[in-house]
Amino acid sequence: MSSFDLDLVTIGAGSGGVRASRMAATHGAKVAVIEAYRVGGTCVIRGCVPKKIMVYASRYAEDFEDAGGFGWQVGPRDFSWEKLIANKDREIARLEGLYRKNLGGAGVTLIEDRAVVAGPNRVRLVKSGQELSARHILVATGGHPFVPPDIEGRELAITSNEAFHLAAQPSRVMVVGGGYIAIEFAGIFNGLGSKTVLVHHGADVLRGFDPEIRARMRAEMQKRGIEVVLNAAVVSIKAEGGAKRVTLSDGAVHVVDEVMFATGRRPCTQDLGLEACGVKLDSAGAVVVDSFGQSSVQGIHAVGDVTNRVNLTPVAIREGAALAETLFNKNPTTVDHADIPTAVFGTPEIGVVGLPEDAARAEGHAVDIYKTAFRPMRATMSGRDTQIFMKLVVDADSQRVLGCHILGEAAAEMIQCVAIAVKMRATKRDFDATVALHPSAAEELVLLKTKA
Ligand SMILES: Cc1cc2nc3c(=O)[nH]c(=O)nc-3n(C[C@H](O)[C@H](O)[C@H](O)COP(=O)(O)OP(=O)(O)OC[C@H]3O[C@@H](n4cnc5c(N)ncnc54)[C@H](O)[C@@H]3O)c2cc1C
Repeated sequence: MSSFDLDLVTIGAGSGGVRASRMAATHGAKVAVIEAYRVGGTCVIRGCVPKKIMVYASRYAEDFEDAGGFGWQVGPRDFSWEKLIANKDREIARLEGLYRKNLGGAGVTLIEDRAVVAGPNRVRLVKSGQELSARHILVATGGHPFVPPDIEGRELAITSNEAFHLAAQPSRVMVVGGGYIAIEFAGIFNGLGSKTVLVHHGADVLRGFDPEIRARMRAEMQKRGIEVVLNAAVVSIKAEGGAKRVTLSDGAVHVVDEVMFATGRRPCTQDLGLEACGVKLDSAGAVVVDSFGQSSVQGIHAVGDVTNRVNLTPVAIREGAALAETLFNKNPTTVDHADIPTAVFGTPEIGVVGLPEDAARAEGHAVDIYKTAFRPMRATMSGRDTQIFMKLVVDADSQRVLGCHILGEAAAEMIQCVAIAVKMRATKRDFDATVALHPSAAEELVLLKTKA
């Protein structure tokens, strides 16, 4: 008989923690999961899901405009931010309810409290003061938005956390950052009618993406009316009436209603008691784990964003599932972090799998590049000035497709399917051998004949 209260105590009921807890319980473990905020974690409550809902909302603006070219006459339009937020909140509450139900159904005990690791096998609950002992502790506390500390008036700004709950739509908004969350929120606000400026300290948006995708995405945002300010940082924010006066490092001053920082995220490991137990953290505060999710202390494990490896929901879920397999199903399982598809739900959107051209070259590959840019059929009728861009990065020796990069409508949907081929190590010949599906944008992926 075990001398512990529990086989597993999970801290954080987000993507990784919920999956690990449910699967561990399914394998017969006695499990409790502790959640300090809301069940479902970042993805469900203030990440992927509410964001995608708002992306959908923002794209109607283009749909109404484009309809004219197809003979539709769209009458006066009115948008209610309050209604969007209320409906979004209702959907999020429904999903949270499902998460709670599924945890209960699997036999996992949910404890709503903040947890601190009190020792290698002990977790303390902050509100109740109760202490639990467990054979294994899983740290699945995710990440939180990071705002640079040296900005005067930074407390006047919001992050993505608050953006989902603004009482009113800002008529002028500044989004600070160049990563995918910044691009997505700039697209959301702009599509919904806010005058939007994106400020980024780098030379271009979306560091780490293929250089051509980065430049084209920026151009598409600008075409849609987003002001993109590069090589500039926010120096100060001052309240001015009901607005905010923002001074940038290039001297420019912008007066806006909201400033949203999307300047990166940090792992949630502060005040968690990990270092006191000897758990090794890296310079960003992430829990250092081996390929099985084991930290430097026996019995303390971590999955998901708190390990700061690939910070995406499906990855956290896989890592959680692998941990449960390893610990409770006698099946040591690791997660392969290669060739994970990813999307940027800007307007238009980006779908990517594998290596960008510059990264492939830097890794020593001789590469063949195949690419195309074309006006989508829908735009030929609507008259919209936009292009779909597709690029294949192919290893010149083996002909293996190392990367696929798509910018344009439905890129995320396309890339999920392309990712199967890339994961199977498909070659350019395999793409060529696949018959096109006509008429579609995706068919261009199998019709790329000429090396760039
Ligand atoms: C705006 C935004 C958009 C995103 N869009 C996408 C997307 O489109 N696709 C995608 O794949 N990923 C997206 N992500 C990333 C995705 O949300 C995360 O990768 C994912 O949620 C990580 O899961 P996790 O289990 O590691 O952590 P989380 O889901 O963050 O869960 C951690 C949980 O731990 C809880 N917690 C923290 N500390 C404690 C404590 N001491 N005690 C108790 N509980 C605690 C938190 O309240 C939270 O509920 C997005 C993120 C953001 C912020």
